[in-house]
Parts: sequence; structure tokens; C-alpha cells
Amino acid sequence: MNDIFEKQEKFLNNLKEKYPLLYTQRIWVEYSSGWYKLIEDLSSEIYELYNKWGSKYTEFPYVAQMKEKFGGLRYYMSFAEISEEDYNDLRKIIDKYEALSYKVCEVCSAPGKNDTLEDDYWYTTLCESCREKENISRREKDAAYASNKI
Ligand SMILES: [Zn+2]
Repeated sequence: MNDIFEKQEKFLNNLKEKYPLLYTQRIWVEYSSGWYKLIEDLSSEIYELYNKWGSKYTEFPYVAQMKEKFGGLRYYMSFAEISEEDYNDLRKIIDKYEALSYKVCEVCSAPGKNDTLEDDYWYTTLCESCREKENISRREKDAAYASNKI
């Protein structure tokens, strides 16, 4: 088992323990650990809402998938029979954290910027230092590839 995988397992198990209503399904963490705190805060805020709803519902929306797309967090939840007002409250929390993810480095959680890497079209959200590291490692890989070809 590699370190990243182990870290993700630990992170998910912790979420399941603290927020069992939200994390009922087997899900994968499709982003780096820089966003772990964001997910933790997001889960905690949704739980506050669920506590407010109390016994109003027998089923609560649970997390179906969370992933990174265009350098932003996507947090997908299951459908459940809840009122429009409650749905809107839930949506507001998710929207807030999805927007926030564009300003948090995916790798180290420092303030980040959503932008493309050198010679690339993929958007990532990284702080200056992680972006520079990633660009350097790509340049080195390109150079190694070019020199191997000759
Ligand atoms: Zn960073």
C-alpha cells in the first residue's frame, strides 16, 4: 500500500466515523490532500444543517461522489425527499465550498490560483510554489524524454 492511498483511506475512515449519514457509500477521493480540510469543514457544515432538520426526515442525502474537475471541487449528493427550502440550504453550503476550492492549493492547502500549467490546457488550483515545482518536474521529464529519444 503506498502512502497516498493510505492517507486517503485514513481521511475517508475519519469522515465516515464523524459524519456517518453523509458517507454511507464506498467513494474515492479523486484529488490531493490540500483539500482535505475543505471537505472536513464542508461535511461539518452539512451536519449542522442535518442536526437542525432533526427527525424531519428518515433519509438524508449522502455523498455519491467527490472529485476534481477543471481544478475545482465537485461534490455530488444523492437525491432524497427533502423540501425545496432545505435543498436550497444544502446547495448553498456545497456551492460555497466548491467556489472556495478554486482558491485553495490542491496539494498543500495554501492560498492558490486556478490556472493552467506551462504548455498545458488542464486547469489546476495550486499555490505559486506547488505550481513552480510541478512546472519544473514537467520540464525535467520532457528533457529526459527528449534526450532518451536521440
Ligand atoms: Zn501548494
